[in-house]
Order: sequence, then C-alpha cells, then structure tokens
Amino acid sequence: MEFRRLTDRIYYSMFDKEADRPVLGYVSGQKYSFMVDAGNSKSHMKAFHEALDKEGFKRPDMIAVTHWHWDHTFGMHAAEGITIAHEKTNNKLKEMAKWQWTDSEMKKRLETKVEIEFADTCIRKEYSLLSEIQVVTSDLSFVETMKIDLGGITAELHQVESPHSDDCVCIFIPEERVLFIGDAVGVDYYNNCFLDKDKLRSLIGAVEGFDFDTCVLGHAEPMSKENILNIMHSLLNRQENS
Ligand SMILES: [Zn+2]
Repeated sequence: MEFRRLTDRIYYSMFDKEADRPVLGYVSGQKYSFMVDAGNSKSHMKAFHEALDKEGFKRPDMIAVTHWHWDHTFGMHAAEGITIAHEKTNNKLKEMAKWQWTDSEMKKRLETKVEIEFADTCIRKEYSLLSEIQVVTSDLSFVETMKIDLGGITAELHQVESPHSDDCVCIFIPEERVLFIGDAVGVDYYNNCFLDKDKLRSLIGAVEGFDFDTCVLGHAEPMSKENILNIMHSLLNRQENS
C-alpha cells in the first residue's frame, strides 16, 4: 500500500480501482491518532495498519467514516480504535448488517435493485470468500457536527447535504487547512446516477464555507479548493441530456 504525506500531520493511502478501495486518511495528534474511512474489508484495514507500522506511526485511536457505502465501511469491524459515524450512516449499516452475503442473496438484491451492479462486482473482487464480509455499526454516533481534540489538532465532523448520499460527512482539519470530502462530490449511484442539483448547490455553499487549501477525495488525487469548486460548478452546469 502506498502511503503519502499531505502535511506534517496528515497522511493518506491511495485509492485502488481494482476492488474500488477508497483513499484512507490519517491525522496524527499529540494525544490521539485519527483515521478517515475504514476501508472496504479487513484486509484493506490490515494493509493500512501495516503501512502505519512501517512508518512507525501509531495505529488509529479513532476511526470516522464519511458515508455508508460498502467501500468506506466494511473494514470497520477490523478497526482497533473507537469508530464514529453519523446517525444516518449507522441506520443504513444496521440494515445492511442483517443482509446475507451469499451468491444467491447478492443476486436477489441486484434483481430487486437494493444493490447496484458496480458494488456487487467490486465486492466479489475484494472478497474471495463472501462469508468474510462483516457489517457493523460504529461505537459512537452523532448528528450534525462533532469536534474532536486530537491534541494540538482538531477533527471537525460536519454532516453536509450531498447529491451522492444522504449521510455524507466532511471532516475538516482547520490547523492544517485540509478537508476530507469523501465521495460527497458525486452522483447517486443508488438512484440511477441521478444528480440532485439542489443538493449540489447546498454542498458548494458548505465547501466554500470551509477555510481549506487542499481537499482529500475518496477516489481521486487530493486537489485545491479552487479545483474542487470548479468541478462542482461544471457538474452543476452539466446538461442532463448530453
Ligand atoms: Zn460512495
């Protein structure tokens, strides 16, 4: 796993398109270390732990997820610290924790459009044994916002309106001027890739309000505030029939 330095106290591991593994973030406080997103499996979490061990960094004391999608949450059961999610995220995870992970049940969920093709394909790539899938809710949950003092550095969790999913959380690190944005800038794959422009407008307002230089995205290279706002504005101006 490739581990990259963003600032003195913020690192991340790269996304991997093969089984849709997202970027995982790491914030190093004097007291606590903090991880953004839990990865898509136990082995994704393990690879992250090993990358930290290799650098001599402490394994995360706290792990917060940005939204419910499998690639960001299915590694949560393998976390060693305290896990944190928005209440809406946990509601969805609670529902998914009851799902059975067999070939036939997964096919049924595709037929009934409970699950989407892309997630099904990637889940099958990540898990050679479907029975290893474990979905859990987080230890702590919050609504709206949560601030965590990590020791000399703060993690601010903010629920934002997003066209990607109803439970999106952005994590702002004011001291380093970094915003973890997850997949918030994206269409809703669970609703025929619908782009809700009202929600996008609301997200643009929220992102403009954070005082950051760099944002970290779930499945792309980090980018400047100017770039992410340009992307959001071009999405907003997209012609739906083109
Ligand atoms: Zn997502």
